[in-house]
Amino acid sequence: MSILFDDVLVYDRDAPSLAIGPTDVFVDGDRIAAIGLTASARADRQTRIVHGGGEHLLVPGAINAHFHSPANHLKGSLPSLPLELFMLYESSADPQLRPSPREAYLRTSLAAMEMLRLGTTSVQDDAFLMPYPEPDVIDAVMSAYADVGIRAAVALDQPEIVEADKLPFLDEFASPELSAVLHQSAPMARNELLEMYDYLISSWHGAADGRLTAAVSISAPQRVSEEYFAELDALSAQHRIPLFAHILETKSQRVLAVAQPRFRGRSLVQYTSDLGLLSERMNVIHAVWVDDPDLDLIAASGAVVAHNPISNLRLGSGVMPFRRMRDRGIPIALGVDEAICGDEVNMWGVARMAGLIHNIEGFDSASWPRAAEVLDCLWRGGAHAMLRADELGQITVGCLADLALIDLRTAAFSPLNDIAGQLVYCESGSSVVMTVVNGAVVFDDGRITTVNEAALLREVREVFAEKREVIDQSRLRAGRWHEEYREMVRRTAQVEVGMTRWIGEQ
Ligand SMILES: [Zn+2]
Repeated sequence: MSILFDDVLVYDRDAPSLAIGPTDVFVDGDRIAAIGLTASARADRQTRIVHGGGEHLLVPGAINAHFHSPANHLKGSLPSLPLELFMLYESSADPQLRPSPREAYLRTSLAAMEMLRLGTTSVQDDAFLMPYPEPDVIDAVMSAYADVGIRAAVALDQPEIVEADKLPFLDEFASPELSAVLHQSAPMARNELLEMYDYLISSWHGAADGRLTAAVSISAPQRVSEEYFAELDALSAQHRIPLFAHILETKSQRVLAVAQPRFRGRSLVQYTSDLGLLSERMNVIHAVWVDDPDLDLIAASGAVVAHNPISNLRLGSGVMPFRRMRDRGIPIALGVDEAICGDEVNMWGVARMAGLIHNIEGFDSASWPRAAEVLDCLWRGGAHAMLRADELGQITVGCLADLALIDLRTAAFSPLNDIAGQLVYCESGSSVVMTVVNGAVVFDDGRITTVNEAALLREVREVFAEKREVIDQSRLRAGRWHEEYREMVRRTAQVEVGMTRWIGEQ
C-alpha cells in the first residue's frame, strides 16, 4: 500500500515558519519514502492520492506517552480528589470489578478510536489489570489495539507490596479494620507477575507488523520491592523497552521518604538512582514534587519525563517544574494519564494545557513554554519516551508513517497566522481529517476505517451500563475509608519539604 499526499504543507521543526511546502509526501508501506519533487514520481496506479489543495497541513501523529486504558469507561465519573483519595475509588482490587475479556476489549477500543479521530497515533498504556493480569485479559487489550489500528506499547502496572508500605502515616492511625486491609498481601506475587510479562512479551511484542510492543511498569518505586524493580529493569534492558515509573506525583510521595525507614530520607528519585535503576529507558511519570538535585539526577540518567498537566490539575497534584527540566535538557513527553482524570483522551487539550499552566509560575515570560516547544514535547518527546526517537515523531524520509492531516480551512486555522500557535492554542482535534498509522489509513473523512465504531460504542454503552451498579457498590465500600485517607493527605500537606508545587497557601 502506498499513499501520496499531494500539495500539502508539512510540519518541519527546523523551518522558519515550522512548515515546508506546499509539497508532496509519498508513503510506501509503513515508511515515509519521499518528500518534495521526487515524491509524486513514486506513485503508481495502486497509490492512494490525497489532494491537499495547498490548504492542509501534514503533522506527525501525536504520541500519548502516558495512559491507563483500564479507566477508559469511567470518564467524568469521579469528583476531583487528591491522588491518594482518588485511587481509593479508582483502582480498587475489588474482585467484583475484574473485567471480562470482552469488557477489557471494549474499554481499550473506546479510547483507541477516540485517539485516532484526533490524530493520536501512538499510546503508551500502563495497564493496571485489576485485581491481577491474566492471559485472556492481556489478549483482549492487545487485540483491541491490533484491531483498531493504533500503535501501542503496553505494560502491566501492578504493585506487589502491601498498601501500608506505599503510603505515609496512614498505618499509624488506621482503625483495626483498615489496618487489616492495609496489610493484606498484593493480589499477585512477583514471580507470577513475571510470568505474565513472559506471556505479554512472547505473545505480543512486535505483533501487528511491529505496531504492538511490550513495555514494563513498576507503577511507582514505593509500590514494589527492590527485587521486582530490578527484575523489570532487566527485562527493559533485555528487550530495550521503556520502564514506566510514576515518581513524585504528589506531595504525599515526597513526604513518604521521611515517613518510611526503607527510603532513609531520600527522595524517590535519589532512592531509584541509588538502586542503579534510573536509566535512559525510564519514563519518569509526573515528576511534580522533584527538587533540583532530583532533576540533576534525571538529566544525568537520560530518562524522559512524561508530563500530564490535565491530570495534575484534576487531582490537584501541583505544577511540574517545566522550565527547570528543559534547562537541563531533560526530554519531556506529554500524556493524558487516564480517561478518569483526563477526562477526554485528547492530546490537543493536553498540549494546550502544557502551553498554559506553566505561565502561572512567575512574571518572566521568557521562561514560559513556547508553542513550538510544546509541539516538540508532543511529538519528539513522545518518540523519545517510546525509545524510538529515530523513527517516530517526525516527518522525515525513512521514518515510520504515523501521520495526521489537518484541514486548514477550519475556524481554528482561519486565517493562518502562526502554525505552532494555532496548533497549540486553537486546535481541538476537530480539524484532523485523516490519520495514518504504520502507513495504513485508520481514520478518514470522519470515519474509523478499521472497526465498526458505532457498533462498538453501542456495545460499550450497554455493557458498562450493566456494570454500573457493581462499580457504584465497590465505590461505596471504598468510601468507608475516605476520612482516614483524607487525614493522611492532610497530614502530609502540613509537612515542610523545602518547596511547594501548589500555588495556594496550604
Ligand atoms: Zn498514571
